[in-house]
Amino acid sequence: MEGALTARDRVGIQDFVLLDETTEAAFLSNLKKRFSKDLIYTYIGTLLVSVNPYKELDIYNMKQMDLYMGVNFFELPPHIYALADNAYHTMLTEFNNHFILISGESGAGKTEASKKILQYYAVSCPSTTLLNTVRDKMLMSNPVLEAFGNAKTLKNYNSSRFGKYMDIQFDSQGDAVGGHILNYMLEKSRVVHQNHGERNFHIFYQLVEGGEEDLLHQLGLERDCQQYNYLTQGECAIVSSINDRNDWKTVKNALQIINIDEINTNHLFGTVASVLHLGNVQFDSDSKGHALLNSNNSELRWLLGVDAHRLQEGLTYRKIEAQKDQVLSPFTIDHAIYARDALAKAIYGQTFTWLVNRINESIENKDSSRKTVIGLLDIYGFEVFYVNSFEQFCINYCNEKLQQLFIQLTLKAEQEEYQAEDIEWEPVQFFNNKIICDLVEEKHRGIISILDEECLRPGDVTDLTFLERLEEKMGNHPHFVTHKLADKMTRKTLERGDFRLLHYAGEVTYCVVGKRNHNVVTQFKSSLLKLTEILMAKEAWYIRCLKSNESKQPGQFDEALIRHQVKYLGLMEHLRVRRAGFAYRRKYEVFLKRYKPLCPATWPHWRGVPADGVEVLVQHLGYLPHEYKMGRTKIFIRHPRTLFATEDAFEKC
Ligand code: ADP
Ligand code: MG
Repeated sequence: MEGALTARDRVGIQDFVLLDETTEAAFLSNLKKRFSKDLIYTYIGTLLVSVNPYKELDIYNMKQMDLYMGVNFFELPPHIYALADNAYHTMLTEFNNHFILISGESGAGKTEASKKILQYYAVSCPSTTLLNTVRDKMLMSNPVLEAFGNAKTLKNYNSSRFGKYMDIQFDSQGDAVGGHILNYMLEKSRVVHQNHGERNFHIFYQLVEGGEEDLLHQLGLERDCQQYNYLTQGECAIVSSINDRNDWKTVKNALQIINIDEINTNHLFGTVASVLHLGNVQFDSDSKGHALLNSNNSELRWLLGVDAHRLQEGLTYRKIEAQKDQVLSPFTIDHAIYARDALAKAIYGQTFTWLVNRINESIENKDSSRKTVIGLLDIYGFEVFYVNSFEQFCINYCNEKLQQLFIQLTLKAEQEEYQAEDIEWEPVQFFNNKIICDLVEEKHRGIISILDEECLRPGDVTDLTFLERLEEKMGNHPHFVTHKLADKMTRKTLERGDFRLLHYAGEVTYCVVGKRNHNVVTQFKSSLLKLTEILMAKEAWYIRCLKSNESKQPGQFDEALIRHQVKYLGLMEHLRVRRAGFAYRRKYEVFLKRYKPLCPATWPHWRGVPADGVEVLVQHLGYLPHEYKMGRTKIFIRHPRTLFATEDAFEKC
């Protein structure tokens, strides 16, 4: 005991549930103490908090994997392998589906965490040669998706610009036998526009920098990123810490492993090159102000497989269907540029979808035997920029939904479970963000519905009329602020084209100008609803990633930045709920099935109802009355150490 106390002073405590006081200051101080010792992981019960160390730690090797394999959650120092392993073993013993939700802001370490989990399963599950091939493919899907879906941003040099949900399928022996990926909302606008200091998707630079001479020649590309409009806006095409040439080789190799043949690989790079060429297409204006293709344009012939004349027409005219006739109405230069960029975004978006489909074909397990899954959700965190557009609106709405899911599955479920199980417990107050989800998505009344209606309404609909409708309908909503109300409520002014939402994580001002892409929002809403359904049917595990500092420096613990994240990730609330409750609970059947060998009265068979069997069992094991409670269907154990002792006895018997 004394040894444990000394260790506690030295390295902080491993589980926030055991903190002396549940204040934010105590929480931060423990996190900081551990971070200073390179202990980046800490639990809140079974939730894992991770702080990005921004340096390689020697904790992700085979030795560590072996150490955590099959070991009870609380027996070893907190680790992402412990969480991965526990989800896996619970899945095996209970034959049910799980998911691991990894959240946190950009650069906090979500994608790295999901890769570490995938590696853990690939290495630690039982294996055969055949399965190794499937696993290699699953692992290799990462470099490919990162090349096409990640980019350098100011916050993260390898920022995922799409949301990813990956199911890993296991057979009844626990072998990882296949997988499936769903992708969400690729940030297509990045194809045609990048902010200062940011890049386009990695693949463009990898191709131009690393592509073989004959490939570039065949695609009409020069080995110089500066030649391409779509690569130069951020003014940082070449970044010293990114090795595009090496990454190119990795991606080519990965494409082979996931079975994309040479013909398809060539098509794929042909499409990537087309986007670059398209970005260089320029327009002139004739005497009437109509757009014409610039006479120097040699780019069009590189737009592979497309009739140059039709493309030219498509970029400079709008086709209007008038009764039975088609009329061509000429574009201005601005419209033509818009059409060009829209085409580039569409081509890239389709290519990404195609790639995900191909990966799925290659990792899918076709045999129909019963499988259980562990889903990994790595999805963009809450975003607040100087100007927030429609994309941030979708991203933040998604986070709002995930928070709601978290509330439903953990906080609310926890309270409801105690009630349902007749276990006495004081309810914990927490902010329920359902009101904000409703504000965005409610039928007929939410922002998305109003957007839909406005877009379908005939007549002169502009960004500002949309905003007026919002003001009319939402004006009194406690989480919605328009420029008219802004001064009164928050003393912060808003521009005329802006509205502000008070999200659970903080306030964000959105600019409606140019926003009204209702098809995309509506599609996004329905894919989010589908995702929520997928997740609701599974048992949840959470990893909350925290960013240690804005400058990506090892060893720096920016307290203000971390306090902010602790707040909006709801960690203190989670801790309060966990503290109030019991660390462990299991259905009587499951508990009895596992531990019945420990008691002569329950082994080999208990003839009565499982609850009575469990009571006999724990009496025999010497549980004290305050250490556990018997619910209607489950046993609740207050402290992990009670269970450790039982597990130890089980291992020895
Ligand atoms: P996110 O997906 O949350 O935006 P990433 O997972 O891409 O963030 O992490 C951003 C960067 O932080 C990584 O490229 C890596 O340099 C560093 N990083 C993240 N997690 C770890 C870790 N566990 N150990 C070392 N470095 C890490
Ligand atoms: Mg990421």
